[in-house]
Amino acid sequence: MSRLVHLLIQATPPRRETVDIPESTRADEVQALLFAAADVGHLAAATTALKVRAPDGSLLPASATALKPNGAEDSERYTLDLCRSDKSLTTLPTAAEVTALQQTLAALRSDLDQISLAQSKSGQRTPANATRRMTAIDPRYNAGPRYIFSEETKTHLKTPTFDPWEWQENEMLALLEYMFVDLGVLQEFKIDLPILRRFLQSIKDNYNLNHFHNFRHCFCVCHMMYAILYTTGVVTQLTPTDKLILLVACIGHDLDHPGYNNAYQINARTALATIYNDYSPLEMHHAAVLFTILRDPATNILATLPEPQFKEIRKGVIRCILATDMARHGEILATFKKYADEGFTLDDADHKSCLLQMVTKCADISNEVRPPDVADPWVDCLLEEFFEQADREKKEGLPWAPFMDREKVTKPNAQVGFIGFVMIPLYELVSRVLPNMDPIITPVKSALTHYKGLLEKEKAAAAAGAAATATASA
Ligand SMILES: [Zn+2]
Repeated sequence: MSRLVHLLIQATPPRRETVDIPESTRADEVQALLFAAADVGHLAAATTALKVRAPDGSLLPASATALKPNGAEDSERYTLDLCRSDKSLTTLPTAAEVTALQQTLAALRSDLDQISLAQSKSGQRTPANATRRMTAIDPRYNAGPRYIFSEETKTHLKTPTFDPWEWQENEMLALLEYMFVDLGVLQEFKIDLPILRRFLQSIKDNYNLNHFHNFRHCFCVCHMMYAILYTTGVVTQLTPTDKLILLVACIGHDLDHPGYNNAYQINARTALATIYNDYSPLEMHHAAVLFTILRDPATNILATLPEPQFKEIRKGVIRCILATDMARHGEILATFKKYADEGFTLDDADHKSCLLQMVTKCADISNEVRPPDVADPWVDCLLEEFFEQADREKKEGLPWAPFMDREKVTKPNAQVGFIGFVMIPLYELVSRVLPNMDPIITPVKSALTHYKGLLEKEKAAAAAGAAATATASA
């Protein structure tokens, strides 16, 4: 039986509708009928509230029992109000509002990019993160046999001409393991082989994929330290403790390097600069990450050491890592020179400790000791890392160093200064104390000659270019 209900819909202008609501109609069906009468679509209905009022103004539930058939006169009709909860459904933003929103969004996106860049390269770094960054190692590898290297490889490894570019990551790990065995420290300190392997793996996992300061650089520095010990013969005069200090310091010396140097850390007021009060923030961090890895029993190669020996090794390793901050270059060289002048002796603990620092420094900046085809790609890697830093400093309104500016630096001008003023004086000073440094110094001197030649050509080409421009504009 039909029951006609007359409605006055509160729209502009008001509209009149009649719906048939039989008594058996369910409440949801009544609502659907009312929405249909008011032309409210399915999607909009989800955010729209219905208000039905009797002619006297009282609110009624939208149900078949409440909505009794009524007269068609305006004074007898039920009024139907629609309240939309989502303003945007009825009010579209103006063009100016849209532009403002788009600008806000663009600014937010740029901020997010900056934040993710900062986090990926220099953001929330804490030493504690180190132990979380370790890939699972197949237990069979831990306990498995050692890599077998040929006698030729073992002999070559003891010289500066060994080519680290030829080896994969797992091979470099095995070569580092071999150095522990060959230098006698694995046996001397009863280091468990599976723990050494997990330690080396964790070290590798905590080097970042920077252009220069990456795991291969770590391997190169360890290798050159090892090669210097053998080339100069000092390997026979150092104690197992000295050798362990050098190995561990070289392995850990750039751990978790963010790819931006101390100047950036300090100027950008990064978390690292804050934690270490601007005092060698990177080197402090490298050492802290190293000793965090060594706190974990699974990777602690120093676990078997008696307390006094652990303390001695920890002190030596920290001293060597902190010595790699080039801001302390002059100070460390001056101390070593003083010892050399007064008569260097390995029997003096201060002399020896300074020698270990110098050997670490020699190894750290040793790329030009290597054959030209090995050394050359490293220059590109380092310059790319520098250029990216200066680009970022310019973008962030920070000061940048001329030697990192891609507008100013060329390979020859970068190398001539660094080799002539930093490398050669360092190696010549060490040669006053260690014998047979020639195989280390000779390639550096020939690299200097090579880059000086290139620099001359560069200057000649620039002068010719300038003369041609002058002629053309005359
Ligand atoms: Zn380094």
